[in-house]
Amino acid sequence: MNDILQTPIEYLKGVGPSRGEMLRKELNIHRYGDLLTLFPNRYIDRTRYYKINELQAGNTEVQIIGKIIHLKTIEQSKGRGRLVATFVDETGEMELVWFQGQKWIRESLKLNTPYVAFGKVTSFSSQFNMAHPELELLEEHKQSLRSAMQPVYPSTEKLTQKGISNRTINKMMQQLFVETQARFTESLPPNLLEELKLIPKNAALFNIHFPKSQELLAKAQFRLKFEELFFIQLQLITKNLIRKHKIKGHPFEKVGEHFNTFYQHHLPFELTNAQKRVIKEIRNDLGSKAQMNRLLQGDVGSGKTIVALLCMLMALDNGFQSCLMAPTEILATQHFNGLSELAKELNINIKLLTGSTKTSERKIIHEALEKGELHILIGTHALLEDKVQFHNLGLAIIDEQHRFGVEQRSKLWKKNDIPPHVLVMTATPIPRTLAMSMYGDLDISVIDELPPGRKPIQTVHRYDSNRLKVWKFLKDEIAKGRQIYIVYPLINESEKMDYKDLMDGYESISRDFPLPQYSVSIVHGQMKPAEKDEEMRRFAAGKTNIMVATTVIEVGVNVPNASVMVIESAERFGLSQLHQLRGRVGRGAEQSYCILMTGHKLSNDSKIRLETMCKTNDGFEIAEVDLKLRGPGDIMGTQQSGVLNLQIADLVRDRDILQLARHEAIKLLKKDPAMTLPEHQTLRMIFMEMSKRKNIWNYIS
Ligand code: ADP
Ligand code: MG
Repeated sequence: MNDILQTPIEYLKGVGPSRGEMLRKELNIHRYGDLLTLFPNRYIDRTRYYKINELQAGNTEVQIIGKIIHLKTIEQSKGRGRLVATFVDETGEMELVWFQGQKWIRESLKLNTPYVAFGKVTSFSSQFNMAHPELELLEEHKQSLRSAMQPVYPSTEKLTQKGISNRTINKMMQQLFVETQARFTESLPPNLLEELKLIPKNAALFNIHFPKSQELLAKAQFRLKFEELFFIQLQLITKNLIRKHKIKGHPFEKVGEHFNTFYQHHLPFELTNAQKRVIKEIRNDLGSKAQMNRLLQGDVGSGKTIVALLCMLMALDNGFQSCLMAPTEILATQHFNGLSELAKELNINIKLLTGSTKTSERKIIHEALEKGELHILIGTHALLEDKVQFHNLGLAIIDEQHRFGVEQRSKLWKKNDIPPHVLVMTATPIPRTLAMSMYGDLDISVIDELPPGRKPIQTVHRYDSNRLKVWKFLKDEIAKGRQIYIVYPLINESEKMDYKDLMDGYESISRDFPLPQYSVSIVHGQMKPAEKDEEMRRFAAGKTNIMVATTVIEVGVNVPNASVMVIESAERFGLSQLHQLRGRVGRGAEQSYCILMTGHKLSNDSKIRLETMCKTNDGFEIAEVDLKLRGPGDIMGTQQSGVLNLQIADLVRDRDILQLARHEAIKLLKKDPAMTLPEHQTLRMIFMEMSKRKNIWNYIS
């Protein structure tokens, strides 16, 4: 390793204690090595020199070679003034202007000497001018290490205030390269460099900070991005391999009576090929001696529930209990009802445990669970309470896990010595490569096929001003016997405004759809669980025509006769949320509709979201757009954001490099799993160092 990179940053010439403190606080730069990996956000092209007569009002940053022929101070009110220099080249003249530090600048400027002026150009009363230009003597400019592509470093307001400008950082970087003699340990094995035509580490670091050309900059970026992603993949894959070897699971050796009986006699429909494939994948895992950690992805309505049931039957046939945890009471109840119905001929003991389960019922459940008489327990967070002790939990299924924190997941299986198999089900469609790098230690199964006979949902965008027409449409649908959801944003349950909108909306809907011809339900987070359930039940049973609700119905609710989803203030929802909401309809045989209501004022992002929704029903396509709009951190919900603190790569933009890195990491570990070959020595050292430092991945074991 380069020991010098461990040197505290204040020792770098030109930094010192107070700037060192600023760098630590503002940019988390503690040592030389941290500065070295402070990578530029962007580059300004300084290969081009403009002539004054080429300037245009819209120019951003330009550089011009010229001379100052005249200096004057123009007084404004109360001693405030500006310093104006007349700057000329052979094609014309313009003004350089300073509002601050005029005295010092005035003294340091040389007249009639060639300068390079760099900055933003504006035009003012037919005269071009540049405020607070970066000025450099042409002589010095020619010699400076600064290259044609000038890096722009991440910065903060505080840093700029304290005079640590981009140029200062650039100078520190130059000093760093001087003191370290620009010799850095090569971190990738030689054959990899050769095979992928990667430039050496030294050249990459040099060109990322002082690019000699566009071409070398691109090579430097590629090499450093690859390296970053490669090491992450090494960690993820190693971790997965270790888990498979070390973490014992309960082998479910047989496929037994319950599974077979159900599969042969009680399946309510033929499984799709995707469902069959996924069940096979899971069965393979469960039969092995290692713990299963699998993510089951499937778009809304793809039929994950039946897969869950079949897995739980496998557990039962092997003498184990299983549980299914859902994020809300409504969902847990729905799972309970649905699964009980499916399994009614099987004579197995299924119970529901939620926050509103009565104490007496709770006691019965706890006891039966500990004795092993209870086979399947379905519930909410209530399953995580200490009192809930399984006799032998063999399989834990978590529905819609993006609602659960990582810690909560692990809480479930700390209760046993040998952890249960874990199946996480999610309808949040994450592009596969991204999923692999975020949940790298989970295996992934995808249900990529919807059950047959589904008609694609028709989605339209309507302005509030067209509400009358929309209401007419709803009445026609109700006349055909269909049911309708109308959803209001209540993103934060405590927000009074949202709540008021919802209640106002409910009132006006009740007026426009009056009794006795129509009946309207309402469900929101401030209602008691029992009331909510009662309303849901009435709607599900077809007793009400319209369900006015907040996003509590977002996940999983299943009422096949509901064929229209109206989303109010649709511009306030994120894409994946819109997609989830839409997934509540289109579950029956009838044509379904989704109507996105908004006002006329829409941001660009909102427009893209609405257009995307109208254009496609494909969850993965929607996820791609969402990723582009929001970045990967958000898509997982706040729990996972920041998990990947990448320095240079971007999981979305650099997906191809990610794939390459993953491919190469797998190849290398196949050949040399412990990285013990001589040519992998440095690799191994860096790997160990990294694993020690950021053990961000162990959120599953
Ligand atoms: P999700 O993946 O969103 O949880 P569900 O498991 O709730 O989806 O299934 C959605 C609907 O599709 C349910 O009504 C279910 O009975 C039905 N379904 C699931 N699989 C099939 C299939 N293979 N053929 C027909 N209908 C199916
Ligand atoms: Mg579901």
